[in-house]
Amino acid sequence: MLDWKAVNLKAGVEIHQQLDTGKLFCGCSSEMRGEPELMRVFRKQHPVPSELGRYDVSALYEELRDRRFFYDVVKGESCLVELDEEPPHSLNRQALEAALLIAYHFHSNVFDEFHVMRKTITDGSNTGAFQRTIMISEGGYVEAPTPEGLLRVPLEGINLEEDAANITWKKGEDVGYGLSRLGIPLVEIGTEVIEASPQAVAEVAKGIGLTLRSTRKVKRGLGTIRQDVNVSVKGGKRVEIKGVQDLRNMPAIIEAEALRQLALIELAKAGLSDGVSRVGPVIRVKGAWPYLTLDLHTGTLRDEIESSARAYMVDVRFDREGDDLLISMGASSEGAEGVDRPTRLEKRWHEVENRVRSLFSGPSEETRAVVSGSVTAFTRPLPGGARMYPETDLSPIPNPRLEFGPPPKPYYEELAEIRSTFSLDESASEELYTSPYLDVARRVISDTSLSPSYVASVLLGTVRSLGRQGIDVVSLSEWQLYEVMKLVDEGFPKEGVEGLLAEVARRKPGDAASLRDIASSMIGERVDLEGVIRDVLQSDAELIRRKGEAAYAPLMGDVMKRVRGKVDGKKVAEALKRALKDYLEAHEGNV
Ligand SMILES: [Zn+2]
Repeated sequence: MLDWKAVNLKAGVEIHQQLDTGKLFCGCSSEMRGEPELMRVFRKQHPVPSELGRYDVSALYEELRDRRFFYDVVKGESCLVELDEEPPHSLNRQALEAALLIAYHFHSNVFDEFHVMRKTITDGSNTGAFQRTIMISEGGYVEAPTPEGLLRVPLEGINLEEDAANITWKKGEDVGYGLSRLGIPLVEIGTEVIEASPQAVAEVAKGIGLTLRSTRKVKRGLGTIRQDVNVSVKGGKRVEIKGVQDLRNMPAIIEAEALRQLALIELAKAGLSDGVSRVGPVIRVKGAWPYLTLDLHTGTLRDEIESSARAYMVDVRFDREGDDLLISMGASSEGAEGVDRPTRLEKRWHEVENRVRSLFSGPSEETRAVVSGSVTAFTRPLPGGARMYPETDLSPIPNPRLEFGPPPKPYYEELAEIRSTFSLDESASEELYTSPYLDVARRVISDTSLSPSYVASVLLGTVRSLGRQGIDVVSLSEWQLYEVMKLVDEGFPKEGVEGLLAEVARRKPGDAASLRDIASSMIGERVDLEGVIRDVLQSDAELIRRKGEAAYAPLMGDVMKRVRGKVDGKKVAEALKRALKDYLEAHEGNV
């Protein structure tokens, strides 16, 4: 185990969460229905110096890779704004309000006026090579129960920004992007430096996610939240790890990165960086061969060199000469076209040489991506700080000063209360907390005699199972759910709830009266319980003659076969018991 205090572990969490509204600067839908593209647009990018006269390192890095970008336009989900062929429309008001509510939940200080900025993004994921971003608030905090106790972590602040386009295909130096995701509103929440165990850092990230979902203004499901983590140790460098999908892996990822930096710090002590030289496509590192299999905890040194070279679209081969390590570089199969451009290839080799030298000198500032589990790989140098400039197409937006009522309870207190009220385990209580049904669940248990765990099982389990059957449960309103639960309280059979909810979702009744009509028509269909029981008693007469009262269980089975889902099981049992008793008395002489 990593002694996080001894190595002075520092981490920071950055969360990107999509908001459940339309796009930020145009009227396009953010549903990402996965429809085929209408057309494909081709772009190339060239770096230009910033107003400070400097080139951004990540822009230069992209220039070396010299990739071509293709953008798929999907009807209803992308327009000229996404293509950067038309100025942005005005800011989506719903998205702004959601961001303000989120800032309120994190106790963050909202600015008086919002300025839209452009942030340089050169990897092709934005058609204009910039992303629009708005600082909404500064400061604030999140509290999370952790193995080290309740931790209050200050936030840097909250930004509202455009999501980037997503990669849909890659072939050599060509990259395809879908425009459907570009421009979906995101909130970006970054913490200040956290000095705590890797487990505690993951708990903080989880707390931010739960608080976000509890506002019910954010999108749900795969890909709607992205978590990055920054890690450094004493003597190391800030490394940003992107794309932590599963928070359960976060502690292992942080630990592996800390150990990787510590291993590189140790390696630097061997003093091999002075022995790095290159002739053409061959890098020689004096005396480094024995270190090639060194465990960096995210792979070996060999893996690290290979993946770094791959980032510059270069393939490498390792040879030994005495104790010297020889790294032979070729244009990778991916970068094959680079052969036609010798200067660019030479530049790539130079970058790989620099990267090898820097690996032997200790950790460097960089961006890494999760490959699998806790294994990460180099993706690019960390972008410089000076890459923001004002968006001149939009004027500043005044803070609308919305009122949000009393301060919200912290999520862990809400969760503890839900867990005990509804007798749910941890994951079910988190599900109810972040679901749209918490308020209705609370109202139902205060207004009816239904048990809280039954109410939770319908609102979570039954609704989920209907959703899986393709029934449009999202259209079920709070009052419809409430009314259905009221009907159950008044005697509507529990076995019929799933069918009733499905019917309500299908017919979308506009008022309580028609909802009750649906319920009573369902009851009407089935209610000849006495008739069914009479039938069953007659056809099973032989069985009853042999078994007497003991025939009850098989009879119950036969009756339920015919009325399941239509009559409450308890009612059936009572009616059958009565009928069987009458039957036995009437036929006493004959048995
Ligand atoms: Zn659009």
